[in-house]
Amino acid sequence: MTASGAAAAIAPEPEPGSGPVATADDVITFADLKTWERQLASTGTCKHPVKLHGRVTAIDLATGETAPVYDTAAEPGGVLHVACGNRRESRCPACSQAYKRDARQLVRAGLTGGKGVPESVSTHPCVFATFTAPSFGPVHARRMRGKTVLPCRPRRDADKRACEHGRDISCPVRHGEHDPRLGRPMCPDCFDYEAAVLFNFHAGELWRRFTTYLPRHLARLAGVTGKQLRKELRIRYVKVAEYQARGVIHFHAVIRLDAHTKEGFTPPPARYSAALLCDAITLAAKAVRITVPASGPKIRLSFGRELDARSIWRESFAATGRALDAAAVANYIAKYVTKAVDVPGLPDTRIRHAAEIEVLRCPAHHKRMVTMAWDLGARTSVADPRLRLWAHQLGFGGHPLTKSRRYSVTFGYIRGERVTARRLERHPDGERDPWGRPLDERVVLVLTSWSYAGTGYTPRTPDAELALASADMARAR
Ligand SMILES: [Zn+2]
Ligand SMILES: [Zn+2]
Ligand SMILES: [Zn+2]
Repeated sequence: MTASGAAAAIAPEPEPGSGPVATADDVITFADLKTWERQLASTGTCKHPVKLHGRVTAIDLATGETAPVYDTAAEPGGVLHVACGNRRESRCPACSQAYKRDARQLVRAGLTGGKGVPESVSTHPCVFATFTAPSFGPVHARRMRGKTVLPCRPRRDADKRACEHGRDISCPVRHGEHDPRLGRPMCPDCFDYEAAVLFNFHAGELWRRFTTYLPRHLARLAGVTGKQLRKELRIRYVKVAEYQARGVIHFHAVIRLDAHTKEGFTPPPARYSAALLCDAITLAAKAVRITVPASGPKIRLSFGRELDARSIWRESFAATGRALDAAAVANYIAKYVTKAVDVPGLPDTRIRHAAEIEVLRCPAHHKRMVTMAWDLGARTSVADPRLRLWAHQLGFGGHPLTKSRRYSVTFGYIRGERVTARRLERHPDGERDPWGRPLDERVVLVLTSWSYAGTGYTPRTPDAELALASADMARAR
């Protein structure tokens, strides 16, 4: 199977949350108007709402007569507040809550149906898998056996306790869940900061390779050719990136098998079982290796050995005694979509000068990772400016949530559904144009004019950019 052929089985989709795109046309369709309404939907308790001036006017195509549909002059203060739409909890609690709720619905729909996805999707082989990073040096960890917390890193031999730097790298403590030492290296000099940062930086590529290898392993285990597999099967996934306490990314993914049909959401042939999928995931993840430029010799990156792949449905229950349930999985994934690095003292925006790193009030461990990313970004052997761009994210620049196109529905669909529900609430007998006729875009055109009217928003969020684009449009006119 060729790499491109295999990759085609999992079609990635544009990052969610990138928002609808405003057109530069004066005349918009009703569909665009709905898009706007989506933007203009309740700001809730948004922390940084964008203020807009503007109006919506309808034109009767037959008579040329105009009539106002909406004018911000009627709003309190004469402005409309648009929610910032930022998904970061640290930036806007209200908007991030809405985003989290949408993510939960999106994940759940792909597991148990709903939102236009048939319920039969819950009969498909479906696996919840965790892809960890390898060890970059001993760190304090909360180790569990069942419900018992084990000692962190016991070393009985006195001569094996010290590392080459003469530091004691043993720890007999049974760490509590919120112990601030968790994830901190026992010896900072033993911790390979460069490899850790480069792992974060290339984590997306490791995942991409995995999605390329997975169909090959599935085909081999099922005893079919790659061509036959592509004809019969589609692999859908949704994955979320989580920062471990040590500041290294790992992925949680729901991976589902569908038949390759036009309608989509059809169970695959019986030979592709959940057990087969678990095995293929394990093999594919273990096979992923990439060699990347570093400050010295190139280094090889791979996923960690602790890979967990478990069927979500009952068939695994007999074997493992543990079945996951859809709601728990959806909650688990949604938990991470609104979090960036969950470390106090780390900035949530890009670092622009080295001096900003010096004054960071985050733990020394994370500061060292930020510094490493910043320095690597300037190394000629690495020479990737994105390392600096993503230094505040410890080198990781990917989106917290990514999914294949047909996993379930898009964020846009879920937001749209919310808007439609609100419209129905407001107009139970169907919407009417200003002349009292049922709304029909062949009869009337809708013109909008918006201008940006307020500060206090966070720049560069998709929605704020949309508002700015609209202001540009208004100025251009
Ligand atoms: Zn907001
Ligand atoms: Zn410890
Ligand atoms: Zn050491």
